[in-house]
Amino acid sequence: MKAQEKIKIRFKPLLCYLGTFALLFLVSCQDRSNETPETGLEARRDTPNVIIIFADDLGYGDLSNYGHPTIRTTHLDQMAMEGQKWTNFYVGASVCTPSRAALLTGRLPVRSGMASPVNRVLFPDSHHGLPSAEVTLAEQLKKAGYTTACIGKWHLGHKEAYLPTRHGFDSYFGIPYSNDMDNLVLAQSKGNYFNFWKSEERKDIQTFNVPLMRDTEIIERPADQRTITKRYTQEALKIINEKKEEPFFIYLAHNLPHVPLFVSEDFEGGSPRGIYGDVVEEIDHSVGQILNELKRTGLDKNTIVVFTSDNGPWLIMGEEGGSAGLLRNGKGSTWEGGMREPCIIWGPGRVKPGIVTDLGSTMDLFTTFSSIAGMDMPEDRIIDGVDLSPVWFNHEAGERKEMFYYRGDQLYAVRVGDYKAHFITQEPYGGDMMAKDTLLLYNLSIDPSEKYDVSNENPEVLAKIRQVVKHHNDKMVKGPDMLKDRGKG
Ligand code: MG
Repeated sequence: MKAQEKIKIRFKPLLCYLGTFALLFLVSCQDRSNETPETGLEARRDTPNVIIIFADDLGYGDLSNYGHPTIRTTHLDQMAMEGQKWTNFYVGASVCTPSRAALLTGRLPVRSGMASPVNRVLFPDSHHGLPSAEVTLAEQLKKAGYTTACIGKWHLGHKEAYLPTRHGFDSYFGIPYSNDMDNLVLAQSKGNYFNFWKSEERKDIQTFNVPLMRDTEIIERPADQRTITKRYTQEALKIINEKKEEPFFIYLAHNLPHVPLFVSEDFEGGSPRGIYGDVVEEIDHSVGQILNELKRTGLDKNTIVVFTSDNGPWLIMGEEGGSAGLLRNGKGSTWEGGMREPCIIWGPGRVKPGIVTDLGSTMDLFTTFSSIAGMDMPEDRIIDGVDLSPVWFNHEAGERKEMFYYRGDQLYAVRVGDYKAHFITQEPYGGDMMAKDTLLLYNLSIDPSEKYDVSNENPEVLAKIRQVVKHHNDKMVKGPDMLKDRGKG
């Protein structure tokens, strides 16, 4: 008998076994499809808990494991050791509101209308917010059976029609916009915003009459910002414990270290970096408490935690603003310091530890978590996120090859692979625009600080980038003009 035939005969009973096994597996899958999402651990196998921790105005260089010499972020350092530390991770915009819209919708803010000049920063007198037609990550995960909680800064519209509870979150606890708003001193003096930050009144909690909300009700005003990080953390721990029998999604968007800087007594004066360091170290402590609670309750093996920030450091705040480390410029700009952020992905047993240099974006969190939870992508709109789970779980090459840097609704720069071309450059606050024909090109893998223009040496790279931009622009449909909505809602 030929060896090949022997093998076939030996494998026949095995094939029968496998066939029966496959049939049983299919039957069990069918059974499971009839289960409601609330049926406990069986249904949870493919629905890990999701926690996204989003700092405000924390720069690329503000964590010790991203190079800060005097801010000690021991818990985030540990989280990065146990998980993945991303070094080419971007936000969808360099200021608060559109960056949040990008994370929650998986779309460039220019598509949702959240990038239009009037909507770039939503002030307390704004009457608009994230359109209800947008699909948020909370809505996606809610459909997949998750309990969804928003804690912290929302800044996507604080009128009832736009609050988190109207965008897929079961609950909300937080300050609905930036912690520097409702400034009573400025309202009275009608003074200059930036000059105000030299005054002692910036240190007074009463100056900022910001509300603290529970769902749709204001429960404290002004919010005591000295304890806000602590209270956001307690709320997260409460949800972890109350909801541990069902899959949960917690979006924890800290108001800090955005100015004004406030810190609890436990952390006051502890950091050699001054109050900014104190604030970051308190956020680090909060991360530690959350990860420890997940470990204590055994949920660590079934939870994925992401830590990142909404935009780069607010450099004009001087010592009270953060640092972009070796990256150029900061918040408000389309230089790397404005849009590249620290990002740590943690999920023991699921996320393979390591340093990842692939491109990633907060918009990818929408696509990746939707994919992990088995949710389809909305098909009636362009989603800019890609699925990063092959990188998270297997260290496969990332799908993202491009990054578009918008400021407002205008495209300023584009990264394709290692190269980034600037079509427009501008200082973040009040600077002049450079002419569009002075195109700059940087190789970010070699020159992350964007110091050495290599446009003359690389005409073929520029041609390729122009092609990518043309393709992008051809498909671009900009979102609703919120100016027309003024006064509604
Ligand atoms: Mg911000």
